[in-house]
Amino acid sequence: MKKHNFYAGPSILPEFTKEKTAEAVMNFAGTGLSVMEVSHRSKEFVAVMDEAVALVKELLPVPEGYSVLFLQGGASLQFLMAPYNLMGKKAAYLITGAWSKKAMKEAKFFGEVVEVASSADANFNYIPKTYDVPADASYLHYTSNNTIFGTRVNAPEVNIPLVADMSSDIFSRPVDVAKHDLIYAGAQKNLGPSGATLVIVKDEALGKIDRPIPTMLDYRIHIQNESMFNTPSTLPVYASLMTLRWLKELGGVEAIEKINIAKAALLYHEIDRNKLFQSTVPIKEDRSLMNVTFVMAPEYAEVEKEFLDFATAKGMVGIKGHRSVGGFRASVYNAMPVDSVKALVEAMQEFEKTK
Ligand SMILES: *Cc1c(COP(=O)(O)O)cnc(C)c1O
Repeated sequence: MKKHNFYAGPSILPEFTKEKTAEAVMNFAGTGLSVMEVSHRSKEFVAVMDEAVALVKELLPVPEGYSVLFLQGGASLQFLMAPYNLMGKKAAYLITGAWSKKAMKEAKFFGEVVEVASSADANFNYIPKTYDVPADASYLHYTSNNTIFGTRVNAPEVNIPLVADMSSDIFSRPVDVAKHDLIYAGAQKNLGPSGATLVIVKDEALGKIDRPIPTMLDYRIHIQNESMFNTPSTLPVYASLMTLRWLKELGGVEAIEKINIAKAALLYHEIDRNKLFQSTVPIKEDRSLMNVTFVMAPEYAEVEKEFLDFATAKGMVGIKGHRSVGGFRASVYNAMPVDSVKALVEAMQEFEKTK
């Protein structure tokens, strides 16, 4: 049976990425060796890193004066590398979910942290829109897509630089990189397998603080060494490059955004229409295009498990909601084909008829 992969992360990748990576696992760039067993300093692998960096710059796009890195440690290490490198006495955080809370927790090791607003009062089912940002903060940190709570945040309009965790929606919609001192994203949602972390950092923003920074945590070291200060995660970087090539071929970020809007609309429309289900995010403009969260309508709460089994029998994988929201979460990242979204919608419609 065809499986429809709605996992939140690691998550679905394009067929192209999987096929090309499988080929390179056996024979990489005509070397007769696996991409897993060649030196990261070989000319073949350096070409992979260079093309991946160039495609990130081309596709977002990234303006002059920024460096693109592929590091390790996941987005979670960026929670502390960001303040380590960029925070003077103070930094501001917009709290829209579990990941921004974790990011803020790490910043507290480095100085005064101002929580400018939080939607914790409603289990993070909306995005705070108006708040004051301290003018003397080094940056405002936000999470552009809340993977767990199914909401998205547009880049806040503020007078200080932005730092953004874009782990779960990078390359899904256009972003004005120039407003940011730093953007980071774990690869395992929209780019590749886990093990690589994309970092885009403004060169000018670095070197302004006086705290000493351990070598491995200093962005400048990784910039000087072009992501090869130590061994990069070669296989995840290779797979990420394949996804970037796939995205370019498809027409880039603007083209995929149109597809993403259409895919998410199919699902949200069904959730709003179907008597059995309801969205967990009442304000439509706050709804994520990547992680669609929904629960049973209160009068049908007792058939939640029954729907999960029903959908699972039809090939749906990974739709159980995160424990802090309950219900269901369908992650519909860039690589998710519209046919899988339609299959889920059909399962919801068929299940409704049985009730
Ligand atoms: C998955 C995720 C993380 C955690 O990423 P790791 O690579 O596991 O550290 C952080 N932020 C967001 C928004 C995520 O979706």
